[in-house]
Amino acid sequence: MSFPHIGNYHVAIEFLLKHVLENIQVLTPPPITKKTLELGSKYSPDFVCVPFKYNLGNYLEALEQGANILVQSGGGCRFGYYGEIQEQILRDLGYDFEFISLIDNEKVNPLAFFNRFKRLNPQLSLARFAYYFQLTFKMIEAMDSLDHMIRSNIGFAVREGSFELLHKEFLRELAAVEGFRSLDKLYRKYDALFRQLEVNKPDNPLRVGIVGELYTLMEPFSSCFIEKELAKKGIQVTRFITVSYLLRHHPQSSDLLKLAGNYLEYEIGADGTDSVARAKMLAEAGYDGVIHVKPFGCTPEVNSMPMLQNISNDYKMPILYFSFDAQTSETGVLTRLEAFHDMLMMRREANRWQNVI
Ligand code: SF4
Repeated sequence: MSFPHIGNYHVAIEFLLKHVLENIQVLTPPPITKKTLELGSKYSPDFVCVPFKYNLGNYLEALEQGANILVQSGGGCRFGYYGEIQEQILRDLGYDFEFISLIDNEKVNPLAFFNRFKRLNPQLSLARFAYYFQLTFKMIEAMDSLDHMIRSNIGFAVREGSFELLHKEFLRELAAVEGFRSLDKLYRKYDALFRQLEVNKPDNPLRVGIVGELYTLMEPFSSCFIEKELAKKGIQVTRFITVSYLLRHHPQSSDLLKLAGNYLEYEIGADGTDSVARAKMLAEAGYDGVIHVKPFGCTPEVNSMPMLQNISNDYKMPILYFSFDAQTSETGVLTRLEAFHDMLMMRREANRWQNVI
């Protein structure tokens, strides 16, 4: 059984599948590379949004390695319908497999999850499923919590690569946790270890928030590793959207609309409302800038852009917009990031002189 990648969450997905489907061999697809995207793009409709292409590339690579059960990645917006098209494309290419959906319309319903797993593993008890389901959720929360700390500090590491190295160690040990107690112990251990890493962080570093569509936010390859590039420039990065945010901590849409204030009256679908609400929050918190990321042609995020621009004008906070597709040039992204960084530095300098005068 295989599934598509998104960030490092394959560690948690593989953990859950291995423990509830002991009768099935779990195959994590090879890490995303240019080849994955090329493969996915080759067989995708041209104008489909890029997460579709990445997922299709993952499926093709997994099928080539022998997978014969694929987990469909569900979701809101158009993505909710993509599974059927991907299945048809793969069948037309001659692959024989079972395609199962675990998430309906972005809602994770544990009982529906159980029934689907039970069909694949008739020996599975509800107690075992409930235990590993909750444990996986805790794992994801631990991952997201440490990632948050890493994003805030990695740009100021004294020893280059120290955060990345420790993070790799954490993920390796995380895959081997045995229960809630060992997970808790592991989390505390790495929380302490990350805090001990030497950083040289100024009192008032440049702060940039990243908002936008969830796949491009959470799968670093799809956004040309934008967070890593910002960190290299000594910028503190804030991002709200993570799996635990989406599944557990996501505000009600009425609360998001309240956060968005006058900038939005109605929900605009998928993560668009979130993008507007969070950009306003970041502007009010005095962030130096915001980066908005989306797949090319992502309707909800295109909808959010006029409001983002209004926020940018009203709060005098620059927003840099990126659209990603299979053709996006990494060099172009890096050049624009470089210019954005220089502009933020110049604004800081200008503000400093204004205060002196
Ligand atoms: S949110 Fe954007 S990227 Fe995701 S399915 Fe909808 S249009 Fe595509």
